[in-house]
Formats: sequence, C-alpha cells, structure tokens
Amino acid sequence: MQMLDLKQITLTGELAFRLGRNFSRLEDPIYRAPEIFHADQQGWPGDWEGRTILALCLHEQISGRKAAFLDDVLEAMDTRWNEKGYLGEIYPHGIINEQQLAGHNWLLRGLLELYCSRHEESYAKRAACIVDNLFLPLLGRFSSYPSSPEKRVLNGEAAGHIAGNALDGWMLSTDIGCAFISLDALTQYYSLFGGEQIRALIYEMIESFGSINVEKCSLQTHATLSTLRGVLRFCETESNEKLQTFAEELFSHYIRHGMTANYANYNWFGRPYWTEPCAVVDSYMAAMALFRMTKCRNYAVIANRIYYNALLAAQRPNGGFGCDKCSGTEESGELLQAKADVYEAWWCCSMRGAEGLCSAAANCILIENEQIWFMNYLSGKFFNNGLEISIKTRYPSTNKVHISICGVSTRKKLQFYLPEGAENVEYSVNGQLFCVEETGFLTIMIESDVTLLLSFRLSSHQEQAIGCATVKGAQVTMLGDQVLGKCENDKSIILAERIYYTEQAKNSGIRILNFPCKSQSECGSLC
Ligand SMILES: [Zn+2]
Repeated sequence: MQMLDLKQITLTGELAFRLGRNFSRLEDPIYRAPEIFHADQQGWPGDWEGRTILALCLHEQISGRKAAFLDDVLEAMDTRWNEKGYLGEIYPHGIINEQQLAGHNWLLRGLLELYCSRHEESYAKRAACIVDNLFLPLLGRFSSYPSSPEKRVLNGEAAGHIAGNALDGWMLSTDIGCAFISLDALTQYYSLFGGEQIRALIYEMIESFGSINVEKCSLQTHATLSTLRGVLRFCETESNEKLQTFAEELFSHYIRHGMTANYANYNWFGRPYWTEPCAVVDSYMAAMALFRMTKCRNYAVIANRIYYNALLAAQRPNGGFGCDKCSGTEESGELLQAKADVYEAWWCCSMRGAEGLCSAAANCILIENEQIWFMNYLSGKFFNNGLEISIKTRYPSTNKVHISICGVSTRKKLQFYLPEGAENVEYSVNGQLFCVEETGFLTIMIESDVTLLLSFRLSSHQEQAIGCATVKGAQVTMLGDQVLGKCENDKSIILAERIYYTEQAKNSGIRILNFPCKSQSECGSLC
C-alpha cells in the first residue's frame, strides 16, 4: 500500500494553514545560517541542522515553494564537516557519543530527503560519507549498549544531555535509548541504496533494541518510536514476519504504557512528566505504517485520534510545536494543559511537527493496485498515476465530504474510513443517493469518473480514558475521533482548536476528563 508523493498533493483548508504557519516559523532567524549552528547547547551534533533541513525539504515538496533560507544553510554546512565528513568531535577508537548518532539521524534523513526530492547525487554522496565513517564502524558495538537503569541518569530535562561517565565506551544521554533513533535514517538509506554491511548493522541494532525492557529501563518514548519507525521501514523494504510481530507488540506496548489521555505521549516509559510532539509524530507515522502493512482498522483509528487530539493540539499559534503536562494523571487532574517552560520545543518538536503534518497529508489517501483508501478527509487535490482526486470538506467540523475523481480508466474499489460512532451513512454517486448501515470502512466500486458526496452523523459518547497513569475511572467525551473538552467558561472545545485559543492553551488548560457519577448530587464534573 503506497502513500502519496508530497509533490502530488495541493492542500487547501485547515492542514494547508497549519503547514503554512509551521513553514513560516521555521524560517525565523534561529533556523538560518549562521544562527542555526550555534543554537544547540546540549551537545547534539547535526540535530538542529538535520531536523531543520528535513522539515524545510518536506515543506518545499508539499508547498511547491522554495524555502527562503534552506540553500544558505546547506551552503554554510560545507565549511563545517570534520575531516571524516560528519559533524562534531572525532572520538578515539572505541568511544561512542550516542547523542552524535541520534543527531546524525536527522541530518541523514534531511540529506536523503533532499536526494529524493532534488535528484542530486551530491546529497547521496554526503549521506554515504556519514554512513561509512560514523555508523558502519559501530558494527559489533550495539550489543554492549548500556540500558539498565542502574547505569543510567534518570533526571533528564526536556532537552537531553550527556550525563555520567562513559560505560563500555558509550557516552550516554539522559534521553535513554537515543542511539537507536539512527535506525530511522539507516533503514531509509538501506531502502534506497541497499548494502550488506548496513543490513548487518540494522539487524544488530534491532536485536540489541529488542533485548531492552523499555519499561524497566525507562526509555524515552521518542527514541523508542523513532526506532520503531526504522523497524517498520525495514519491514516495508523487505518483509520479515518476525520483525513485524515485534513492531506490532512494541506499538501496542506504547499504547498501553506510553500514551496520555489525549493520545499524546509520556516522555519516558514510567515517568509521565510531559509530552513531546516528536514522539506524537512518530506514533502517528508508526500507526499508519502498521495500517499499510496489516490493513487492521484499529491502526487507522489510533492514527486519526493521535492526529486530531495530540498532533494538531500540540501546534502553537506561532506554528511551532510544544510540550504539555501529561493529561489524565493525578498531577494534571482533569486538564490538558501546556507545560509552561517548554510551551514551544523550538529545538526539536517545531521541526518534527513538519514531518507529522506532511505525513498526515501523504497518508490521507493510500493506493494499493486498484484500491483507493480514504483514511482521513483533507481538502485539496491529490494526484496519482493519472488520477486526479479533488476533496472539499470541513471535516471533522462537519461530516460532509465532496469528492470528485477524474482519470479513471479501470474499475476501482474505494474504501472510506468511518470514525467510531458514525451513523446515518449516506453517499451519492453522480447524484444518485444510497443509504447504508456501515461501520469501519464504506466500500464503493466505480468504473469511470465520478462525483461523490459522503455524509454521516456523529453524536458524542463517553469512553474510558486511555493511559496507564490515568486516574482510575476517568472518562473522556468523544465525537468521532475527537476528544471533546471544556474551556473555563464551560464552552465545548475540540483540542485542535488550541491553536486559535492562545491564552487558554497557555494558562488555564482544557478540561477533558470526567467521572461518571451515581446520582445528580454527586455530579461535580462534566456531566
Ligand atoms: Zn521534540
């Protein structure tokens, strides 16, 4: 099952606005040369630059406009490589700085994305240099990665740093497990260029990662999920049942032990202190990768819930992305509330947010042979292999979607995602109306160009709030895939609206939990 190419998408509507605001944020002075090279104060070589390059390259593809300062940054990079062709210190043989590996993941991803988008060999050569000189020498070293809690420093801040003495040659970060993030880029490199040595390294890393108890070792969920995306990309490159099962189990563990009541993340397993949109982005992408591999509807549901309640809810009015307190916990009470000191995580999440938003666009329509899957409803035009699909909708504010498909030359099976609780499902094909009792996916067969109108009704319902640290008995009110909240003045609000409610988002928070009460007199909450 294939995602759409970003260059074949022209968005209008809410997501276009969100992308525009993020693009503009990432052109502020801190993301330009030379400022960008001095921004990192926590020892993550390649991280700032890489996340920015990746984000801007994705923005260029989906918007069709050149990033204002990206080429300046790339030009300035040419004076910054060390003599082995990567960034930061060259350590004596046997010493590994895990933050350098994680940082170079984003740099590699940025370079590979540039290579795919601009078709210039120079980016592939630069990426090869990093792989050959920084990563391939690590073959045989990942099996000694120190993960056990007694060897690690557990008092990390939102921005990780190297802490404690080197162990078995490893300089270790408070972002526990971050070395494995590089699996994300290494698998992308392998999917493009192959190579036996890199394949062996990928296997070694996955095996070493698989032996870690993420819960007991309190791994950072961002590190875990970026690693998971690497495993999933590897499985999409060459199918491997055992690894796919491992990936499915790991994701299911994350849902049970790493998710907040609004489908965001605990920053570490077992330490629900704050959320991090980078992990939210990873969780969305992992869920969609799992859907593409398994066609299991649950992954589509969780992906859409992550998108509306966690990803969109974490975008700040300036277009960047920021951290919240973990909703559902004793500390947060009933509220979804920003964590004031990291209201925007401009050093990482603002850039990764771009990948999340672009990924939502690329995954909203999936293609598999003669099947077209509509996974979410976003306004815009989408092109694939001679097909032109136009969508007009204000979903999920309204549940009506106008779709026209041109260029149909063979029989197609269309599959439309219906959120939980969708009723009175109706659709019209070229003006002829049909009513169906359908849940899950609605299937429509077509043989030529069509105009479709899809509509359904949603009414709110109560669900048990998710999250292993969520207060017992807490419920959330759902409308389709959206968690409904209440502002201070008791007005209903969807979480994605936070981008328009600066003050509430920053200060008072949104009430999202409620507790079913036995009698009216006990009622103290939302009901
Ligand atoms: Zn982040």
